[in-house]
Amino acid sequence: MRYAIGVDLGGTCIKYAVIDENGKFHYEGKLPSKANTDSETVVRQLILAIEECMEYASNNKINLLGVGIGTPGIVDETQRTVLGGAENINGWINVPLASLVEFKTSLPTIVHNDANLMGLGEATFGAARGCSDVIFITVGTGIGGAVIIDGKLFCGYKNRGTELGHIPLIFGGDTCSCGSIGCLETYASTSALVRRFTERAGSVLLPNNDINGKMVIDLYKQGHPMAKDSLEEHWQFLGQGISAFINIFSPQKVVIGGGISESGDFYIENLAKSAKKYAIDTCAINTEIVRATLGNKAGSMGAACLVFNKFPNI
Ligand SMILES: [Zn+2]
Repeated sequence: MRYAIGVDLGGTCIKYAVIDENGKFHYEGKLPSKANTDSETVVRQLILAIEECMEYASNNKINLLGVGIGTPGIVDETQRTVLGGAENINGWINVPLASLVEFKTSLPTIVHNDANLMGLGEATFGAARGCSDVIFITVGTGIGGAVIIDGKLFCGYKNRGTELGHIPLIFGGDTCSCGSIGCLETYASTSALVRRFTERAGSVLLPNNDINGKMVIDLYKQGHPMAKDSLEEHWQFLGQGISAFINIFSPQKVVIGGGISESGDFYIENLAKSAKKYAIDTCAINTEIVRATLGNKAGSMGAACLVFNKFPNI
């Protein structure tokens, strides 16, 4: 049996685990990422997490193949250096993360974008297990995603592609965090759902009501008309985006992750109906739209997969 350390770095915490090649967790932990400090502190936290896993492995006579790390932002084509683009981690620019971790731990280390690794995790161990062609989309504050073609992550030339949340959706639309306008993320993320619901509901709401995605879903279930309008619109926006991915890639599965995907079967059913409405029938014929199943374990599992795929012969 082969074992790897899978690490999922987020803006709030670091989740890490010792995982075997069947996806079984042997040890797991969580530490604050201290993302509002600086890159040196974040790297120190990551190394603490990895050392904790190494101690478990050594106590249990487990041989570790290496370390996989999922990080927000863009990682270079060698999968060793974080180039930037992670707005939620202070100073996370040009960080030679794999080298820093290898120097401290002597374990081969590989780094990749977090949404890509969640997709790889779902395709290997989760909702799209056994599928070779998969689109993964995570819907939250933003929209991230991954493309798996023929069982492998597709990331574009030099790892610069698959920004699935930033396909243009609305001509002349709202400004997006990426600098463009009218992106899918700006209209179909959970934040967009909340924003557009709040715009609709306006003065009807109590001024101190802090609206979030779950509240909009709860109001929808209670039959609130503005929540209904907002969610139906959300399914249209997101469905249209997904139809573009279906027409281009004709995947076996489109896996939807993020907190909102766990709202209930009605969420995925309505989304699937909308996506199929906009997609070309012949492209969508083999496509199933499903909910992610690994929850917040997808990132660390995908990170471990990366190690198993990249360091097969050590
Ligand atoms: Zn954008």
